[in-house]
Amino acid sequence: MFNKILIANRGEIACRVAATAQRMGIQTVAVYSDADANAKHVAACDEAIHVGGAAPKDSYLRWEAIIEAAKATGAQAIHPGYGFLSENEAFAEACAKAGLVFIGPPASAIQAMGLKAESKQLMEKAGVPLVPGYHGADQNPELLQREADRIGYPVLIKASAGGGGKGMRAVEKSEDFAAALASCQREAQNSFGDQAVLIEKYVQRPRHIEIQVFGDTQGNCVYLMERDCSVQRRHQKVLEEAPAPGMTEALRKQMGEAAVAAARAVNYVGAGTVEFIVEQRDNQATGQVDMNFFFMEMNTRLQVEHPVTEAVTGLDLVEWQLRVASGEPLPLQQDQIKLTGHAIEARICAENPDNNFLPATGHLQVYKKPSHTAFERGTVRFDDGVRQGDTISPYYDSMVAKLIVHGDTREQALALLDQALSQTQVVGLSSNVQFLRHVVHSRSFAEARLDTALIPREADVLFNQERVGMNVAAAAVVAHTLHQEQSKQGHDPFSKSDAWQSHAETSRRFPLEFAGETHTAWLHYGHDGAMQLTWGDAAGPGAKGAHDALSFTVAPAADLQVGHALNVTWQGQRVTSEVVMQAGKPGQPADLAHVFTAQGATRIRLINPLAHAEGAQDEKGGLTAPMPGKVVSFAVKVGDKVKAGQTLAVMEAMKMEHTIAAPKDGEVKELLYAPGDQIAEGAELLKLA
Ligand code: ADP
Ligand code: ADP
Ligand code: MG
Repeated sequence: MFNKILIANRGEIACRVAATAQRMGIQTVAVYSDADANAKHVAACDEAIHVGGAAPKDSYLRWEAIIEAAKATGAQAIHPGYGFLSENEAFAEACAKAGLVFIGPPASAIQAMGLKAESKQLMEKAGVPLVPGYHGADQNPELLQREADRIGYPVLIKASAGGGGKGMRAVEKSEDFAAALASCQREAQNSFGDQAVLIEKYVQRPRHIEIQVFGDTQGNCVYLMERDCSVQRRHQKVLEEAPAPGMTEALRKQMGEAAVAAARAVNYVGAGTVEFIVEQRDNQATGQVDMNFFFMEMNTRLQVEHPVTEAVTGLDLVEWQLRVASGEPLPLQQDQIKLTGHAIEARICAENPDNNFLPATGHLQVYKKPSHTAFERGTVRFDDGVRQGDTISPYYDSMVAKLIVHGDTREQALALLDQALSQTQVVGLSSNVQFLRHVVHSRSFAEARLDTALIPREADVLFNQERVGMNVAAAAVVAHTLHQEQSKQGHDPFSKSDAWQSHAETSRRFPLEFAGETHTAWLHYGHDGAMQLTWGDAAGPGAKGAHDALSFTVAPAADLQVGHALNVTWQGQRVTSEVVMQAGKPGQPADLAHVFTAQGATRIRLINPLAHAEGAQDEKGGLTAPMPGKVVSFAVKVGDKVKAGQTLAVMEAMKMEHTIAAPKDGEVKELLYAPGDQIAEGAELLKLA
């Protein structure tokens, strides 16, 4: 076994690898970019070496510098994590040349599986089922059109060199094919430097089911069962689970053996994943759903969602990787690998699901996790690479953390996931935590009716949802404000029933903004310490004791720290809420309340009645960068007349492309940047008049 390894990655996966290495007594070396000098993964390792600038190409992709760092620190092996250099055969080869072990498959296996089209030809020979399609070398557009017509619509055009959900176009009918092909080729050229595509039949009601495989240098190869990753947005995974609902023993064996055949065909060593697309068809005769699987691609690395496999098999896949890389045989044989219970992983990302999943950057002002284990099996496991106070920068992936639950049954795992998400608080930037809860609550997911269109199908219950009403939000923020005032004055607010009443007031005004509208809440003090909240206007309170008046009492929540959680009881209903105040704009007082309850979370703004009314927001409209990123292209030139909504430019940030549309009709006066330029959030891209 190695004494020391270098981890050529960042974020949660670098921390994940370091945790197992530490447990095995192996020393670890981190590498870091300018943006990551104080990152969690640097602290998690025994040593750390700076390898360059913030952009991946200036640091985490600079393999010469990384190999130098390994040699300088005496590391014997390099773990590439996922992303970055993990599927780069030149890097794997360079490691070998430098006398370092690459913790992954042989370079030849990476290369064989690197291009989707070529790997499909290999798989065809190995007898692995493929989606009907065209994966030839001839890229003549007319030939491609004929092939698509032959396959039958809908078809999917894929960049052969593609990955991460990029470079794919679904085409519904023959007339649309040529345009989709051109745009797919353009994206493929820009993103992967290779415009070759393949065409596949678009599988109906598709499920993404993948098999974890493992090979060793002695020629053994096993499968560690499946993961279902059907819940996706933009062809990227959101929730992953094991086992796959509806999986039968027979199908598992068939898919497992097909995956092992795929791995064996390229002499695979180490951890890999064979991804299958599964077609679901109702079988009228049996009343069941028939599942037909087809090879999609093989990822020659550890996968983001490996913890669900660890949960149900009880194994540590990083430990297996280290053992295999140091020449040991696989610790178990196929018949010794067993499944226990059900595990689900949720990817917590810095993004705004209600705004087309636009990635978000910013400061993690509050980052509270449920009670959990980290980087090892547990009922609730929370793997991350950030800490409260860290900044999510635009340079890397938007994934903040992975929440993994493990229960005896799927139902139990769902309940655990919902509970753990309700205890997860992210303040300071948008996150998908509430969205994930909505997915968990959706009928399709709860009933395990899975396919890759689950998110669009359930859109009505997933987007723009408000699970905490205005009454609860208002009561929570008022209670929190009173509590803060009392605590500041050195009183214990819970010692005396009337302590909440600071001055001799009988009622007090709270202007609030909720869901984009302003309201005025009036708090009335009763002589017995009881309080009532009514809605009125700035001039005066609504009728006290009115039918919809909110009588409430405030008490500390027993199981939570006083000062953080408050029980608000009104009309016989008790809600425990936690409120975190945040400045709505930098340098301004904290007036934005994030209200967290078991039912969900919401935001409500406490308007300072003394502040001047603010003018309308600067009407820069869509001409500014919504986030820091890179200009990909301009769709217009100076002098062009444009219509509102027309695409002006395309930006790329955090692995996604974003379209900048014209906010109004006008004429393009000036382009302020060029394609390839890195720009800051809020920067004006062009002038329109
Ligand atoms: P998976 O099938 O495991 O979801 P993808 O093919 O979507 O993998 O991408 C591989 C993983 O590599 C991503 O999930 C992402 O987390 C990681 N990754 C890709 N690019 C970057 C990057 N620039 N920075 C950090 N991580 C990245
Ligand atoms: P990537 O390298 O970007 O991960 P994949 O080939 O693995 O690309 O496909 C990503 C996702 O696209 C799949 O998980 C699935 O949701 C969808 N997909 C891929 N191929 C098909 C197909 N033939 N029919 C329907 N959906 C597909
Ligand atoms: Mg894939």
